[in-house]
Amino acid sequence: MAVQLLTGGHLASGEIVDVLLDGDRVSQVGPVASVTAPEGADRVELTGYLLAGAFAEPHVHLDKAFTIGQVDNPEGTLAGAMTGYGTLLAGATDEDVRVRARRALLHLVGNGVTAVRSHVGCGRLLGTRAIESVVAVREELRDVVDLEIVAHIGGPAAGESWAEHADRLRQALDAGADAVGGNPAVDADPVAALEACLAVATERGCPLDLHTDETTDVSVLTLRELARRAADASVRVTASHCVSLGQQATATAAAVAAELAAAGIGVVTLPATNLYLQGRGTVPALRGLTALDALEAAGVRTAAGGDNVSDPFNPTGRLDPLEVASLLVTAGHRSLARAWEMIGADARAIIGAVPAAPEPGSRADLVAIRARSLQEAVALAPADRWVWRAGRLVSRTEVRRHGATAELDA
Ligand SMILES: [Zn+2]
Repeated sequence: MAVQLLTGGHLASGEIVDVLLDGDRVSQVGPVASVTAPEGADRVELTGYLLAGAFAEPHVHLDKAFTIGQVDNPEGTLAGAMTGYGTLLAGATDEDVRVRARRALLHLVGNGVTAVRSHVGCGRLLGTRAIESVVAVREELRDVVDLEIVAHIGGPAAGESWAEHADRLRQALDAGADAVGGNPAVDADPVAALEACLAVATERGCPLDLHTDETTDVSVLTLRELARRAADASVRVTASHCVSLGQQATATAAAVAAELAAAGIGVVTLPATNLYLQGRGTVPALRGLTALDALEAAGVRTAAGGDNVSDPFNPTGRLDPLEVASLLVTAGHRSLARAWEMIGADARAIIGAVPAAPEPGSRADLVAIRARSLQEAVALAPADRWVWRAGRLVSRTEVRRHGATAELDA
């Protein structure tokens, strides 16, 4: 693979640098004009661009993306979205899922994401159809983005046990899914659900990522049951959402956070969907995010994702980690630097993606954003971006303004 010199970009520290990529690796980083590129190296001019490790999307639903026009959710609640989406399942064709998933994935790539974890529905209503469609997309774009598929299983039918239902998870893994997922808190028997999901993940030696306690009801706290059972787990365990943890008394949140830290469970917060679906009609209005302060104080690894995009669970969403970072700052009260870690290094670590940074030896998964600083990148989310995955330029977006605003491009 070609050698490339990325010259004149600035790091988050403000330092202006030259970065040499050799094959799929970053080989040298130094002050501008200090790095000598071999003859024939490609030269990329990045003056005015912030250069950083590429982002990861640790939690998205590619199979549901862009269904907003097909499904209604007039109440704007989680229950309303689940009911609405259920009506769509029967009519969605495999090709429809594939086209929508591919479109969503490419939007993520264009915004600087090179590693994605997508939950994809499976189970008694859908079988492995959606998994197979997203597996096809993963193969089509395998040189562009790393995609991990979580088999997101619904509950068993009435009269059926989890012992019978768990086979559908195994079928999803056989069909190409990489990890086990589900939503135990909405199941008739939440403990049986999470035990079954953990058992299949353990049996197959694959990660577990559960939608956990996606409710502001403080009496729902399956997170504690998960921590208890995951303490001795041999697989990587992630709890996504954890909304009700954010509604607990301070002492309870701290105790649960300590249990999660001891069990090595990572937490993914999904601010857009939680702000949209949770706390409807509550006075004072509830915010719906998890207890980020308690989790971080206990040493739990936390990351953030976009979750749903233009579907009944979230009618907006830009497939842009910079939107997620902005929400982390305004609604999650994280610092800009912390928000950046939660869409970057921590997001990559939670899903087991290779680390990415403009540092020698790191895999050359990089993003360059036309912004003067990290703060400006999060605030303005400029569209102008270069994206490299394993040293290969996989996307470049360039905006050209005309008229009075043309001076912004100067
Ligand atoms: Zn989700």
